[in-house]
Amino acid sequence: LSTRGNRHDRPRIGIMGGTFDPIHNGHLVAASEVAWVYDLDEVIFVPTGRPVFKLDKKVTNAEDRYLMTVIATASNPKFTVSRVDIDRPGVTYTIDTLRDIRERHPDAELFFITGADAVAEIMQWKDAESMWELAHFVAVTRPGYSSPDGVQPPAGSVDTLEIPALAISSTDVRRRAAHGEPVWYLVPDGVVQYIGKHGLYT
Ligand code: ATP
Ligand code: MG
Repeated sequence: LSTRGNRHDRPRIGIMGGTFDPIHNGHLVAASEVAWVYDLDEVIFVPTGRPVFKLDKKVTNAEDRYLMTVIATASNPKFTVSRVDIDRPGVTYTIDTLRDIRERHPDAELFFITGADAVAEIMQWKDAESMWELAHFVAVTRPGYSSPDGVQPPAGSVDTLEIPALAISSTDVRRRAAHGEPVWYLVPDGVVQYIGKHGLYT
């Protein structure tokens, strides 16, 4: 899968799905590393609508999460943001994300990017079997999470990529913001300012 330096006939597109509540530098490093190692032409960040694994939790409204994602990615020419998940009514399933992106990029090779913790969830995702045909999966290392035991995805369907460790989570950023603790350098400057301006997480 990792084919840096080879010639590619098809556009290679990464998909970075997440709640992004808020987006932080761990997400950005993950996307940047996978883009580099897999020679991607573009990484599409896809903020979720109603994340299926967070139905019991309160999530910031989609428009704020979308705008923070746009602000955080604006300076990178390879990074774009898609509204497919937030514009689709109902709960977000990754299979629908993949189908929507595939429809918009029929000739592309797709690479779905997740952290090590999300791999554990993949196996429970709706229509997990058909997802392997729609995209390659790249699981990046994440401090504090190891690859799951138990149910394993089909051999060869998920690549693991070691990336520089950033022990940052949106949960911790929200907690810090709520307590008035600093979030500088955990999230991009524009996101720090957006959180302050709109009084998010207080
Ligand atoms: P929360 O704490 O609210 O769950 P999060 O930090 O886990 O937020 P998500 O939006 O849930 O962020 O994650 C989106 C994707 O990014 C997931 O695949 C997750 O595993 C991955 N990811 C998040 N933080 C990191 C990190 N620090 N390093 C590597 N991958 C990460
Ligand atoms: Mg998470």
